[in-house]
Parts: sequence; structure tokens; C-alpha cells
Amino acid sequence: CKTLRLILGDQLNASHSWFRKKDDEIVYLIAEVNEEHQYVKHHVQKICAFFLAMHQFAQALAIAGHQVIYLTLDETKEYASFAELIAALNTAHAFNNFEYQQPDEYRLSEQLSQLASEFKHSKVYSSEHFYLTQEDINEEFKQGEHTTMEFFYRRMRKRFGILVENNKPIGGRWNFDQSNRNKLKEADLKDIPEPLLFDNDASDILERLQAHSVNYFGKESRQLIWPVTRHQARQLLSFFCQHQLIHFGRFQDAMTQATDYAWSIYHSRLSFALNSKILSPREVIERVLDHWQDNPSIDIAQVEGFIRQILGWREYVRGIYWRNMPEYAEKNALQASHPLPDYFWNGKTQMNCLRQCLTQSLDYSYAHHIQRLMVIGNFCLLFGIDPDQVDEWYLGVYIDAIEWVEMPNTRGMTQFADNGIVATKPYAASSNYINKMSDYCKHCSYTQSKKVGDKACPLNSAYWHFIYRHREKFQSNPRMTMVYRTWQKMEDKQQQAILEQADGYIENLNRL
Ligand code: FAD
Repeated sequence: CKTLRLILGDQLNASHSWFRKKDDEIVYLIAEVNEEHQYVKHHVQKICAFFLAMHQFAQALAIAGHQVIYLTLDETKEYASFAELIAALNTAHAFNNFEYQQPDEYRLSEQLSQLASEFKHSKVYSSEHFYLTQEDINEEFKQGEHTTMEFFYRRMRKRFGILVENNKPIGGRWNFDQSNRNKLKEADLKDIPEPLLFDNDASDILERLQAHSVNYFGKESRQLIWPVTRHQARQLLSFFCQHQLIHFGRFQDAMTQATDYAWSIYHSRLSFALNSKILSPREVIERVLDHWQDNPSIDIAQVEGFIRQILGWREYVRGIYWRNMPEYAEKNALQASHPLPDYFWNGKTQMNCLRQCLTQSLDYSYAHHIQRLMVIGNFCLLFGIDPDQVDEWYLGVYIDAIEWVEMPNTRGMTQFADNGIVATKPYAASSNYINKMSDYCKHCSYTQSKKVGDKACPLNSAYWHFIYRHREKFQSNPRMTMVYRTWQKMEDKQQQAILEQADGYIENLNRL
């Protein structure tokens, strides 16, 4: 009575109850499958990171005494999907039973439940990774409705007893966001720690990708810097606690190009290890709290700011995703339809903020939150780029991009395509925000302070164009009254000049 257990590339959870005991009647399958890197075009480092991590995981399971089948692209090339591969394995091995962990992605969840129904016996397990179960999500979130993240997060703090005492927030406040909005000054730059990078050898995988003509993009490197084992992931977590936590919140929204470490600043870069489930969110939060206890000089604002990202935002976007799929993937509330400009694939734009963030994304398969939200996402929002293309780019480019977390952030938070399920107002900004939080504008060939005329920063007129073209939707939003008042106070001539300037940029989107 042999059982086949499928482990997906983002289910590398060594603490899963599956692995507590060895059983020769159970065979674990981990496979590199064409379908999984073809549903969108991916950054090459992302494919390498997943394949390397999967392979390491398979080896660790085999060393621990489990029966494991690891299949590379060489062995799976003739199968178009997991379904076909598993059907073929079943013919060869005659498994009685098929088991899998609940996938986090809607597409795979549908596919595997269909596949399971073709077996006489099958069972689906929890991935035992997240704080909330599917039942919890159904209670916390309502389909098509906004749930306020701040209140959700407070409920999570209380429910899981994190940074609370007698049901009250430790430190007297739930949220220290106001202390977390600093720009990096010249004097701060020298303290930014050199990021911990790994030296994983990706040569075999690169050769395999070339042999199978896999279509990818981004900077190719034989040295993969991302953590692909438990040991490396734990090292990265320790590094974060020791060197980055101290200023995490303070410089969370800051952007710079003035140091070699500008791409990482004080960000943990733990998202790949978390999303592949090499690390669990509980483990990360516990480790941060322990470190804080041993180092009480670290300010609570930094610790709370970090925990909010994982206990709050990460669980929140997952809830939004599952409560709203599959309709969510089709949403386009602002009817945005322009194609994604070519420079998203090569970084060649004269807009320095965008060039810095795109180039960094293509080089490292990584950008930190504010770069994703307020530079790249804001650009797409203001210029009305088709959310399908925006989603596809984000899903392909980032090392941590898996649909459940990518889509609510992109389509929801940045593009307002979900009509306010995530955000109560669009995250639209002119260049003032970017100038406030970064040194990008100083190095730009456009003039930050200009709205119209030669070399005026495209974001400025595009911002007002966005405000104007969506006035019916937003002018009665109480959080946007001030903006509409400012627009109305402008003279007709000035309004006209701004709209014309923006139209000129929109027509020449590929040449900005
Ligand atoms: P840190 O800044 O060190 O934060 C710590 C952790 O908090 C992250 O590792 C992540 O697990 C969690 N976190 C922080 N913000 C969010 C958030 N908004 N949603 C969910 N988790 C969060 N995150 C992904 O993991 N995958 C994605 O595909 C993804 N796409 C994004 C797209 C857009 C447009 C935006 C605005 C954000 C996106 N994020 C995504 C959220 C966030 O930007 C990344 O989690 C973060 O930049 C990863 O880097 P880090 O590990 O250094 O994060």
C-alpha cells in the first residue's frame, strides 16, 4: 500500500509532521516541472533559487532516511504538468494513495484537487506554516470587502500573545509607524551593514536551463546569493537580528543609491526563505523577540515594525487572496490598459528613480518594499499600465514572488485594481514623496520640482492626470479631499498645461 506524497517547490518545511517518522511505504516526490517556470517568464535567479532549495531539501530528506524521488527537468521534460507526471509515476509504481499539502496558489490548488480525485485514496494536509488556517481566513475576511489591516493585526497580536501583556500592547502602543519614516542622511550611510550573501553554485542548474531552452530574464550568475538551506536561512536570520534589526523600522521607507549596499539597507531579505517555507514565520518572530530580550537597548519601534510585516501584512495579504480568488485576478477597477514599457526588462529609462529600482530588481531579483510600492508600483498606477502585465512582471521578477503574496500587493495595494479591497485610497504620489525619501532625484536628468515644460519630472504631471481622470471615483473619498481641493484651486490654464504635459508623456511611454 504505497503512498505518493508530493512536495511543491514552496513547501520546503522540514518541521512538517509528515517527516516525524520514517516509513518505507511512503515515497516523497520533488520535481522540477516545465509548467512551474513557464506560467510566467521568471528571473533566472528565482528559478535557480527554487531548484537549488528543492534539491537540497530532497537530499536532507534522503539523509534523514525517507524515500525520495527527485526529478530534474531532464527527467520531466516530456510531461506538461504535475498531473501528467504523476499519472506516469503511478503507472510505473502503482501507488494506492496520493497525498499533498494544501498549495498556497489557487491554480495549483485546483489542479491538485482534480488530480487527487483520480486516485482511489487521497488526502490533503495543511502546510503547517501560517498562523491562520483556511477556516480562520473565512472568519477574518469577507469576499469583496475591505478589512482594515491595523485592526486585523491587533487581533493577531492578542490571539497569538505577541508583544502583548494583559491584552494590552507592550510599549503602550500598537503601532510605532510614526517613528519609522526616516530618510537616510549622509552620516547614516557608513553604518549600513554589508549584506550577508551566500555562495551557492548554480552552474548545473544554469546549464540545465540552457539545455532545455528555458525562457528567463534578469542577471545570470553562477553564484547564487540567496539562502537555499535551513542552515543558511538561519544564518541570515541571525545576521538580521545582530546587524539590521536595530534600524529596521527607522529606515524601512528610505531609499538611496549612495552606497554599495543600497539595495538591501536594513531589510532582512528573508522573504525567499519564508515563502519557500524553509523558515517558519513563528520561528522568525520568536528569534527576533529573543534577540530583543537579550538586547533591551533595541528600541521597541524597530521590533514592532518588523513583527507587523510578518504577523500583520503577510497573513493579511494571504487572507485577501484566498477570500477573493479567482475573481481577484481579473480585477481592473481603474480600467488601466497601457502596455508595460520595455525598460521594465532592461532598466533603460532616463527616470533615475525607476532606473535604480528596475536595474536593482533585474540584478538581484530583489527590491525592498518602498521601491516596489512607491517607485515601480506608483509609476504603473499613474501611467495606467494594464494590471495583468504589472502582475506578470512582479510575479516573474522577484525572488519571493508567489501569487498569494504578490497579487494582493500588486493588483491591490499598488494598482487599486481591486477597487479598495486592500487600500482605502490609491498609493499615488508625485515626485515629492520620492525626493523626500531618497537621493534619487538629485541624480536625475528630469527636474524634480517642475510639473510642466522641458525636462519636467513625468511623475508630477502624471500624478495630476491620475487625480483628474479618476475624479468620479475618488473625489468623494474623505482621505482625498485635500488633493482635490488643491487641484480645484489651480487655474484652468495651469490644469490644462499639466494634463497636456502628462498626455505627451503617456504617448511616449517607451521613451521616458
Ligand atoms: P523586510 O522588509 O525585511 O520585511 C520582513 C518580512 O515581512 C518580509 O520578508 C515579508 O515576509 C514580510 N512582508 C513585508 N511586507 C509585506 C507585505 N506587504 N506583504 C506580505 N509580506 C510582507 N512580498 C513577497 O514575499 N512576495 C511578493 O511577491 C511580493 N510582491 C510585492 C509587490 C509589491 C507591489 C509590493 C508593494 C510588495 C510586495 N511584497 C512581496 C511585500 C514586500 O515588499 C516584500 O515581502 C519584501 O520587500 C521582501 O523583502 P525582505 O524580506 O527584505 O522584507
